[in-house]
Amino acid sequence: MLTYQTWETEEKPSFPHDNETKGALDVLTWAFRQYKDDIVYACSFGVEGIVLIDLISQVKPDAEIVFLDTGLHFRETYKTIEKVKEKYPSLRIVMKKPSLSLEEQAQQLGDELWKHNPNKCCELRKVIPLREALTGITAWISGLRREQSPTRSHVEYINKDDKFKSIKICPLIHWTWKDVWNYVYKRRLPYNVLHDRGYPSIGCEPCTSPALDPNDLRSGRWVGHGKTECGLHIS
Ligand code: SF4
Repeated sequence: MLTYQTWETEEKPSFPHDNETKGALDVLTWAFRQYKDDIVYACSFGVEGIVLIDLISQVKPDAEIVFLDTGLHFRETYKTIEKVKEKYPSLRIVMKKPSLSLEEQAQQLGDELWKHNPNKCCELRKVIPLREALTGITAWISGLRREQSPTRSHVEYINKDDKFKSIKICPLIHWTWKDVWNYVYKRRLPYNVLHDRGYPSIGCEPCTSPALDPNDLRSGRWVGHGKTECGLHIS
């Protein structure tokens, strides 16, 4: 089994991406066969997340889905999660919370940490909780697409993840924004209504605005902070 520890010696599988799901179903089938219950999907419940959940449910209907519940998400995001739970009742959706409540965080590090130190806030409320969720787990799935940003343009289907000492599987790397929406409409999937209000990328409410640049899907994230990633995908 390909693991973080065997990355240098194991042969990596390759997948064709000229089929209907651009390789995504093949990658997921391989990943769940390889890792069984030793793999989780860390989902933000944006539109790529909805596509991946629908694909995962075709391969492993009782897969574990982890949502990093910072306590600062939009009401619309929590409603989306409820709709997903109704549509896919056998999936195991885990709401992973940080160890510090918002009140404790404010007492220890100041009010509204995201305004004066968003990196620290993301570390406490996203990175550390994901590390905890991945403890004892060999692989995780992410909805990264190469088109999303220059920092994601070299992502592969199967990646060695030094940050979490695990294998990171990214089935949607070849999907375009149009592919994602075509799939959602064709399959009549539920999605976060904020996407219809100018938010292509949705994170925590204090750090997410409608996109400033329609050609840059992540241009509404951490506006004014010179930050484009929460830290989950940066070594
Ligand atoms: Fe904190 Fe903003 Fe990061 Fe959410 S996105 S964890 S509010 S800094």
